[in-house]
Amino acid sequence: MSAAAMAPTWTAIQAEALDRFRQLLRIDTTNPPGNEIEAVRFVAELLKAHGIEYEIIETAPGRANLIARLKGTGKAGGPLLLSSHLDVVPADAETWTCPPFAAEIRDGFVWGRGAIDMKHMSIYGLTAMLLLKQLGAPLQRDLILAAVADEEAGCDFGMRWLVENRPELVRAEYALNEVGGFTLHAGQRRLYPVQVAEKGFVWVRMTMRGRAGHGSMPHKDNPVVKLASVLNKLANTRLPVRPTAVVDNFLKKVGQSMGGLASFALAGVRFAPLTDLLIDRLPDQEQRNVFNACLHNTVCPTVFEGGGKINVIPGSASVLMDCRTIPGASEADLIAEIRAIVGDSVDLEILKSGPPAVVDPDTPLFRTIESAIRRHDPGAEVVPYMVVGFTDSKWLAQLGVTAYGFAPIRWPREVKFSELFHGRDERIPVEGFQWGLRTFFEVVAETCGVSVQPGERVRLG
Ligand SMILES: [Zn+2]
Repeated sequence: MSAAAMAPTWTAIQAEALDRFRQLLRIDTTNPPGNEIEAVRFVAELLKAHGIEYEIIETAPGRANLIARLKGTGKAGGPLLLSSHLDVVPADAETWTCPPFAAEIRDGFVWGRGAIDMKHMSIYGLTAMLLLKQLGAPLQRDLILAAVADEEAGCDFGMRWLVENRPELVRAEYALNEVGGFTLHAGQRRLYPVQVAEKGFVWVRMTMRGRAGHGSMPHKDNPVVKLASVLNKLANTRLPVRPTAVVDNFLKKVGQSMGGLASFALAGVRFAPLTDLLIDRLPDQEQRNVFNACLHNTVCPTVFEGGGKINVIPGSASVLMDCRTIPGASEADLIAEIRAIVGDSVDLEILKSGPPAVVDPDTPLFRTIESAIRRHDPGAEVVPYMVVGFTDSKWLAQLGVTAYGFAPIRWPREVKFSELFHGRDERIPVEGFQWGLRTFFEVVAETCGVSVQPGERVRLG
């Protein structure tokens, strides 16, 4: 048989990747406790079988990170990092249609916790690395695979740790990570948002002091009551509008795709005097929440800390608040915005924080993503966007890495992608997974200076 006839076919690669994906989903890496080491061993075995060296870094018992690297000439530039986290958020099996760790295939979907967040991407990255190695492709830059722990609980044992303690392992020119590359159906058009920005987080304890006393003798200086009134004020006041270029452009694109009234409304929402007015008139609550989060720093009270006994007025009461900051806003800006509403009556203490991040969407890698999407979904358009949560990209940005959220999935119109993220019945369309695997591979190969011929057999150009 000739070498060309021996070249692997996409059908075979996709079937094998699907099988590995389902095996990975069956490894329960619910965080807490994480136990990512089981998933790391699974990835390591496959790398070893292909003769690829790797390092496993255990940052705490059971909390493992894996880094592998294929060397390139460097002619095309600095390394490309393929990054994914192996941990998943908890799943309440009672409420699921299929068991969350069985990786069943039903109705054309693979069902399982981690299906879109983000074990599919771990398999995309692994497949890309194995395939390039198997093809003996001469890489023009290093290709790094990172499969890390603890993203879902703040990254302390995963990417944050690596960036702060072993930066040489993950330093790269570019990275591909979650959250982006899924089909967004806007009107009759299909958009593919790619993450180029994310908000920062600032976790704050707000404490109100007062006068302790007996519950039988209520008085005006009760910190529980005073805190409730301050919180009420905070919950009913929006922080100032903070437009950014990324969000402006995204809204404009979505508006154009929807056409009609939406294009005017979404164009108008970018102008600060109109923003809050228009947000409040959006037809559904979910939309109002998303727009609010994209255009303001936000404050979300989540945990009360108060007295300990029903008949005792405590000397102080606190609330923990999950605050998120827009790129361009500092922690000091956020605190000043909160102070403007609550005044000096409370203490504000920052417990933990991570800065917002934004990277340049005008790069050769971004254009490679655009052309791969257009090739595989003609008529669709790629659009940079901001994620309101946080990802490992936040820490990579600290090293100057241009990290994009691109973990492509072709997504049907009927199923809402955003509801499955951390939600019940998380699942991925089998076809959408296979489509994403191939699209992703082509982006990786091209970025590493390897041209791949079109067609069913994978042959280098
Ligand atoms: Zn994730």
